[in-house]
Amino acid sequence: MPDETSRAAPRVAVVGSGYVGTVVAACLAFLGRQVIGVETDPHKLCELSRGCSPFYEPGLSDLLVGALGSGRLRFVGDVGDALAHSEALFLCVGTPPGDGGHADMSSVREAAASIGRELRTPHVLITKSTVPIGSGHWLRSLLEDAYEGSTPLEDILSVVSCPEFLREGSAIADFLTPERVVLGSDSGSALELVREVYRPILEQSFVGGDPDRCPALIQTGLLSAETVKYASNAFLATKISFINEIAMICEFVGADVVEVATAIGLDSRIGPRFLDAGAGWGGSCFGKDLQELISTAMDYGHDPRLLQAVTEVNHRQRQVVVEKLRRHLKTMRGRRICIMGLAFKPGTDDLRDAPALDVARWRVAAGASVRAHDPMVGAVAEIPEMRTLPDMYEAARGTDAVVMMTEWPDYVGIDADALLSVMRGRLMVDGRNMFNPETMVRRGFVYEGVGRSPLGDPYGGLELNRGFDQRVEIGNLEGRVA
Ligand code: NAD
Repeated sequence: MPDETSRAAPRVAVVGSGYVGTVVAACLAFLGRQVIGVETDPHKLCELSRGCSPFYEPGLSDLLVGALGSGRLRFVGDVGDALAHSEALFLCVGTPPGDGGHADMSSVREAAASIGRELRTPHVLITKSTVPIGSGHWLRSLLEDAYEGSTPLEDILSVVSCPEFLREGSAIADFLTPERVVLGSDSGSALELVREVYRPILEQSFVGGDPDRCPALIQTGLLSAETVKYASNAFLATKISFINEIAMICEFVGADVVEVATAIGLDSRIGPRFLDAGAGWGGSCFGKDLQELISTAMDYGHDPRLLQAVTEVNHRQRQVVVEKLRRHLKTMRGRRICIMGLAFKPGTDDLRDAPALDVARWRVAAGASVRAHDPMVGAVAEIPEMRTLPDMYEAARGTDAVVMMTEWPDYVGIDADALLSVMRGRLMVDGRNMFNPETMVRRGFVYEGVGRSPLGDPYGGLELNRGFDQRVEIGNLEGRVA
């Protein structure tokens, strides 16, 4: 339930009702704000207006239905309608990878042009889209070019950068209970309005919020806030590529990367998260944001070698999975492979830059027959040769190898005997290090993790006695949950 009446708070418009925009709109309506979501895709608009989320995100459909039912949220196709009933304008359109490494800003450009044409009353434009550093200033000039009103634009428009850090799969909790809120602007009054929109989040005053764990509020200039988002994603991607580099060294020397990562992660200067070796990161953000940051650096004549290496290592990890298949199966022609997990991570059906799709594509191209299972993903239009089955054991039937590509909890409890009994071969390539190598070998698999010592460390494994290890025993199978 909202903590206050909506009249007192700034009214909100959200332009772009994709992953981020829908979560922002539904959550702000839940917090008591009066919200209008704008969406140009007529199919999405129709779905959203009926309370159906066009993508899978836990809890979002319920939140949408509640917000629409309360009258605090509606979706429209016309930005003019939204501008007439709002003061805070969140920009949440997509910024996919474009040519030459820079983000494709065509949606931002179009949105800015339509906002500029329709703007008549005072607004704060809040960029939630991840936009190249400097876009706040650029947006202002785009709006100026399109503006048709009589009041000088600078009197009615301010720009605030408010980067979004939500993660698909836990988007609602991430938005409502963030660790920090970053607001960047050159205008004090604009910041005040956004703080007011965010007040229930900043004070954790909504039902279910935790006032003892209020997020930090970081106020910066526009350019710093824009840079924070890129720097955050670059650091997280770096951590994953770092542990993957260590995983490769572990394979050479016979060490086990899970043991190494657990031990180094206990150092509070390092921390345990984002140290899971495997097939590497994917998704809509890390790859394109790193590429954008690299391109920005190069525009200034700076060669960002670390960031380039992070990207290269990540791409190599997908090939590492394929190489493990090749090493065991030799020729791919006539081979049958089952891919378990297609989404780029558990908890979402998002396939953007999913490592599993590259592995599937490359195996199809090499002549293998590829089947797949994912709890949330059906047929994949871009790979028509790959058959996706709703039952994991049926997907594995008659295959030479299974490849674990998404650490869905469904797979932790997989029945190893049942799996082996339907397979033609015995190979499991665990691209997410979900299982304990010794256990899997004992059960009869030829098991390949990433950076794991296949038969365990003969001198005894690491003792984990501080409740830190995420290994769980389910049946006779030991697995790791993300
Ligand atoms: P998305 O592609 O899912 O959604 C964008 C939506 O905007 C689409 O539904 C599209 O139809 C709509 N749109 C495009 N032009 C429009 C216009 N002129 N008016 C109204 N609607 C319009 O993208 P997303 O995943 O929600 O990402 C949005 C932005 O947020 C990106 O910049 C992304 O980098 C950033 N971001 C994404 C995530 C994430 O996890 N997905 C997290 C943090 C930040």
